[in-house]
Amino acid sequence: MKARVKQLAREVVQRATRGRIVWRGPADARRVALTFDDGPHAMTERYLACLASLGAPATFFVMGYYVERRPDVVAEYLRGGHQVAGHGYYHKRFTRLSPGALRDQLARTEAALGPVPHGRWVRPPHGSLGPVDGATMLASGYTVAMWSFDSRDHDGAAADVLAARCAPARCRPGDVLLFHEGQATTLAALPRVVDALRDGGFELVTMADLTAR
Ligand SMILES: [Zn+2]
Repeated sequence: MKARVKQLAREVVQRATRGRIVWRGPADARRVALTFDDGPHAMTERYLACLASLGAPATFFVMGYYVERRPDVVAEYLRGGHQVAGHGYYHKRFTRLSPGALRDQLARTEAALGPVPHGRWVRPPHGSLGPVDGATMLASGYTVAMWSFDSRDHDGAAADVLAARCAPARCRPGDVLLFHEGQATTLAALPRVVDALRDGGFELVTMADLTAR
């Protein structure tokens, strides 16, 4: 019951903001989006090589502070056909920042990213979202990227457990799957997750493509 109320509340917010705060894509197409938070990381190239070998596009939500230290990394993400967007400058909870401080974090991250082709998207660190920060992100012109399927890939589960969690039978059309960078088990599970989703008839797309109207 509680989960159903939460889902309804999300649908209302997603519709009321005309899809600018988004948990999932339309349910009428068998597509899902894989998303990876908290990069860039020392393992980023391995993630990108894995996704390239699978021919799978994904969406990366990265921290401005890390991107500034790796100025070439945005081009690496984009070269793979992936969407890349901000995940805060320092990964501070947006709900704890004043509107001015949040605007500063967004601007510094955007400056670190440089121009990106998929529009202005942001994923709030920890998925923390409240009315004031939500309004600030929308007023600043961002689409707010939440998720509908948490792989819980940072709980120490083995790769085969993680792959089983993300089995196609457990995913719904339009789902946005949350993963993280820098996780050996996530990387190890990735080929199995991608192959199984495709075998289950799902197409993998970026979040921008998933929600394009
Ligand atoms: Zn994060």
